[in-house]
Amino acid sequence: MNTPARHSDPGRALAQAARADALVLQQCRHCHTVQYPPREICVNCLSDELHWKPVDNRGTVLAGSDLHHSLEPDYRQQLPWKLAAVQLDCGVRVLVHNRAAGAAGDRVRVLAQPHRQGNTLLVTAAIDEQEASP
Ligand SMILES: [Zn+2]
Repeated sequence: MNTPARHSDPGRALAQAARADALVLQQCRHCHTVQYPPREICVNCLSDELHWKPVDNRGTVLAGSDLHHSLEPDYRQQLPWKLAAVQLDCGVRVLVHNRAAGAAGDRVRVLAQPHRQGNTLLVTAAIDEQEASP
């Protein structure tokens, strides 16, 4: 079957927490670390007391690239994919679909959008200059 690999429980929880108007990520109740990708335990203190929290979804594009080859048949149909590494103001670095075509240094917003098979796709969106500063 030509579908992406199944996700873990934390991956499914990310999809369930996704909202159109905010980026919702895991945060540790013990040390307050925000983390991505979602995991069973905190990457900082190993606590399993994690919750989902809307975070500041503004960030800066670190680098971008175009993906021209994929082993996943589902993604092969949509090549080339514009990808970007984004440093979010909340402290998390994410690899996203660069829908806004941001270049290195550009300020963007990152949104979590529903994708095929119940997956969640992180995408860049344009940001107003007035709200670009952290
Ligand atoms: Zn922690």
